[in-house]
Amino acid sequence: MTMAAILDGRRIAAEIRASVAERVDRLRRARGIVPGIAFVTVGEDPASLAYVAMKDRACAEAGIRSWQFSLPRDISEREVLERIAALAADPAVHGILVQLPLPGHIAAAAVQSAVPPEKDVDGFHPVNMGRLLLGEEDGFVPCTPAGVVELLVRSGGSWEGRDVVVVGRGAIVGRPLAALLMRKGPPLNATVTVCHTGTRDLARHTRRADIVVAAAGRPRFLTAEMVREGAVVIDVGINRVDDPSSPRGYRLAGDVDFEGVSRKASAVSPVPGGVGPMTIAMLLSNTARAAERRAG
Ligand code: NAP
Repeated sequence: MTMAAILDGRRIAAEIRASVAERVDRLRRARGIVPGIAFVTVGEDPASLAYVAMKDRACAEAGIRSWQFSLPRDISEREVLERIAALAADPAVHGILVQLPLPGHIAAAAVQSAVPPEKDVDGFHPVNMGRLLLGEEDGFVPCTPAGVVELLVRSGGSWEGRDVVVVGRGAIVGRPLAALLMRKGPPLNATVTVCHTGTRDLARHTRRADIVVAAAGRPRFLTAEMVREGAVVIDVGINRVDDPSSPRGYRLAGDVDFEGVSRKASAVSPVPGGVGPMTIAMLLSNTARAAERRAG
């Protein structure tokens, strides 16, 4: 029995981060500019704080300056918007990232729209989302979809002409990924089907796909029976599942039944170590790009 190749997000993300560090260094030497990103969190959500700490470390390693603004949970939406307006006006700040989720009394859409599109390194501003949907290439692409694309391309694969099934139409992953994969020309140019909870007979779609991207947030829902022999499977899911044997009481699981699928697929991405590290690498790349653009 052949086992699937592993799409090694850790290795590829390290390559991207090294090339970002070179770009940052060039900008510093040539123009005296140090790219900077501000992270804004609201409340004490442990997962959000852990993500921001990881992103912050990755920035430091690449030579990107970063600031963390941990705002109290009971802060008003107006005060958050004022903080973002101050960061928007600060020339040392090239990127602004508001870590989701936000507490219920703060509208994520209002906050995301307050980040100027040219500092929106997360790619969630309606202008950047709109550019992506229009097929324009000059906006910022959300980091996870961009990471999914790069993971396959830098592993020697291609999306071009492939039948791709994306499971999930979330605003952070599935929806922007579908728009990205539809872009004309190599290495994209895929034929994309997007599945969701309204899809009848999900397996009928996933089984005919050359490439399946699982982004539903359902632990291990994608099983071997749902993919065809030789398919490429990319697992975006990050789910906490109870695990009394772990000191934390839980462990992280992807959306894919890795053991089963890796006996049938030609390539599969693991969780952890697949798309997660790619997301952070693409954030660094977007931040360097924001600073390069401002420098002209
Ligand atoms: P989301 O906004 O909740 O979207 C989930 C999507 O999956 C929805 O469109 C939903 O359909 C669909 N779905 C849920 N259950 C389904 C089922 N049984 N069959 C078919 N479709 C189903 O989530 P998200 O923000 O896009 O995130 C998706 C996953 O990616 C989560 O596990 C998240 O933690 C992970 N993630 C990972 C990274 C990373 O860096 N690796 C980054 C971001 C997110 P409806 O629209 O019909 O409800």
